[in-house]
Amino acid sequence: MAAQEIWTTLKLVSWSKDYLLSKGIPNARLEAEWLLCAATGLDRVGLYLQHDKPLNEQELAVYREMIARRARREPLQHILGSQEFYGRDYEVSADVLIPRHDTEVLITEAITRHPGAHSVLDIGTGSGCIAVTLVMHLLQSAVTATDISAEALVVAQRNADKHGASIEFLLGSMFIPVSGRSFDLIVSNPPYIPTGDIVTLSPEVRDYDPAIALDGGNDGFYIYRTLIPSAVEHLNSGGWLMVEIGIGQAKDVVQLFKKSGDFDEPFISRDPGGIERVVGAQRKEIP
Ligand code: GLN
Repeated sequence: MAAQEIWTTLKLVSWSKDYLLSKGIPNARLEAEWLLCAATGLDRVGLYLQHDKPLNEQELAVYREMIARRARREPLQHILGSQEFYGRDYEVSADVLIPRHDTEVLITEAITRHPGAHSVLDIGTGSGCIAVTLVMHLLQSAVTATDISAEALVVAQRNADKHGASIEFLLGSMFIPVSGRSFDLIVSNPPYIPTGDIVTLSPEVRDYDPAIALDGGNDGFYIYRTLIPSAVEHLNSGGWLMVEIGIGQAKDVVQLFKKSGDFDEPFISRDPGGIERVVGAQRKEIP
């Protein structure tokens, strides 16, 4: 971006589209538009209505910085500070996994399979997007959410406040903060990427999502191996456990449910891309 040139919104979008494409970013044009909207306060229609409007010095400086960050493959969501999930916007930062649309299937399963849940536990809440969405859909339910990261819980609490959701946030690993308590519904999107696969992920994920939200140990199953059998003593009779899983993990996760001997037949549910994404089962009724 040469300084003496007059940079109109149209010229900027077209220049940055090529620049971001050259950095390996596929939706470059759209992303350039979103960043320009953030830098100027215009919406996308506004950008086009004012395509020949030159940016002022300050807008240009803000935009330049945003493009430079994105060119380093920092996620768009970190630059804009938010991500939409199940119809609501969530604050995100380097302390939390950016909410994924694939995770929405976990919400849909939870609210359709157990609409009457009175108590819900979300393990590894991160941004809080799952817990907040469940508060909004299971109106009669008290929602508790845990995370091993104190920094993540600060973000989650802000997201709960932003949406007026009352959630009990507790710091600690898995069930430690809820010792002696049980719930009607337990959900979790735990870290499940095999450690050795993390280097193969896109730079946005590998370098900017928190490693503790991704790394599922050598084979990816580290958390499930504890979480699934331990869930039983924290589930009310007839309660449900549902977890998000990674590609190709369904069969083994189903086995972990079966091995515990305390669940009915597990279900597997696919995300919009057709990938098996959620496994869950109901705890057997205690006669
Ligand atoms: N779904 C995330 C990814 O594709 C991983 C999230 C997780 O490990 N829970 O990178």
